[in-house]
Amino acid sequence: MEFENYKLSNEIIEALDKLGYLKPTEVQEKVIPEALAGQDLVVKSQTGSGKTAAFGIPICEMVDWEENKPQVLVLTPTRELADQVKEDITNIGRFKRVRATAIYGKHPFRFQQEELRQKCHVVVGTPGRVLDHIERGTFKLEKLQCLVLDEADEMLNMGFIDQVEEILSYLPRKRTTMLFSATLPEDIERLSRRYMQQPKSIEIASTVTLTDRIDHTLYHVKNEEKFALLRDVTITQNPDSCIIFCNTQKQVDEVTDKLDELHYTCDQIHGGMTQDDRFSVMDEFKRGEFRYLVATDVAARGIDIDNITHVINYDLSSEPESYVHRVGRTGRAGNKGKAISFVTQRDRHNLADIESYIGFNIAEQKAPSKEEVTLAMPAFTTKLESVPKFKKDKAALVNEGIMKLYFNGGKKKKLRAFDFVGTITSIPGVTGDDIGIIKIQDTETYIDILNGKGSLVLAEMKTKTVKGKKLKVHKAKR
Ligand code: AMP
Repeated sequence: MEFENYKLSNEIIEALDKLGYLKPTEVQEKVIPEALAGQDLVVKSQTGSGKTAAFGIPICEMVDWEENKPQVLVLTPTRELADQVKEDITNIGRFKRVRATAIYGKHPFRFQQEELRQKCHVVVGTPGRVLDHIERGTFKLEKLQCLVLDEADEMLNMGFIDQVEEILSYLPRKRTTMLFSATLPEDIERLSRRYMQQPKSIEIASTVTLTDRIDHTLYHVKNEEKFALLRDVTITQNPDSCIIFCNTQKQVDEVTDKLDELHYTCDQIHGGMTQDDRFSVMDEFKRGEFRYLVATDVAARGIDIDNITHVINYDLSSEPESYVHRVGRTGRAGNKGKAISFVTQRDRHNLADIESYIGFNIAEQKAPSKEEVTLAMPAFTTKLESVPKFKKDKAALVNEGIMKLYFNGGKKKKLRAFDFVGTITSIPGVTGDDIGIIKIQDTETYIDILNGKGSLVLAEMKTKTVKGKKLKVHKAKR
């Protein structure tokens, strides 16, 4: 099956091509035609299976570009995931000029309000802040046609269910609802059907990737010997890129500090950090600027990072589902990964639950011997001292040939998108197809110029006026 076989417009196919999505994955093959037909869906599919694009592609296809009010709402449990889904949708919708925005807590409300006032086709957000915008009337719902719950089991769980139900009570009845998750316990599946109309279930066999692509091992260890074991295991395994999961923020702090003392290139992420810090850490880790990320479960779900070679459960999670989410950060996109778990006496029950949940026993390993550690040390030290190879950025693939221009005038000068389009298309050789997303703020405007015509437009706009006004223009910094 090829993407060309679906009823997808050329702009979407072109973006998929640039992103290197040559063929639909299994979940995309099953979901895309159903979603395009407006069918409610409950989709159970492993993370890393191409789940985001499975809903991202039909969403981008279906939005009506002319309509300025939001048409799609995607709810996610974490802010990192909201941001990532927004990025993925922006990439897929790049040539159709689909505008997606992410809204979540601990981020200036006014900034998001401004975003929502602009043309905005898709809103991706965490429940609390989405509800806040709905209740204050800053998120208009009249045109909403589609709701997606990503990581649906988490969204319908105790912590979120009240907020999600309240959001649902505000949404137009006539809409498509899609639920996506790697794990979907039965009671939650039953609950979810209350919000949907004769949903179809799509299930993609999951254990394949869990064992085929990931090598699972465990070490029995005493609590006080965990860090020494971590050190030995990282030396002998010598990972290129590794996430170390802990159960508490305190533990994350402690492990990061100790690794730092040993000069590991490491950083940390947990819910107690400011959102800006969380994003910059994730971005740096995604780019491969450091090798070891110490994290709580905020980094467990859905987060898509290329080539994580090792996941270490420094603390075993008490939730069997969490094991699946955590180890799912590795073994992605056809790569092999290793999942290593530290098991203390107190974790034995958890281990039994996890093994029964995943349906196989995790192989036990002996701790690396002194000799093994000594032998592995030179290679480990060399890697530690070398600069990691930076990973490629997906957005750069679709952004090739796009230049963002800044103009020093916006709403306060009564400028509208229409005025900019008029002036820019008056440049010989430039048409409406060369203009991407236009973002007009109070005192400034940002416009994406496509198809490699940025330099031409930049040069020409230095001499032209917009609605009779002379504006400063330069290449935008971001
Ligand atoms: P997800 O399950 O959404 O976390 O996606 C897993 C990874 O697969 C992401 O890095 C996607 O960019 C990538 N991906 C999604 N769809 C395709 C496709 N059709 N072909 C190749 N890679 C894909």
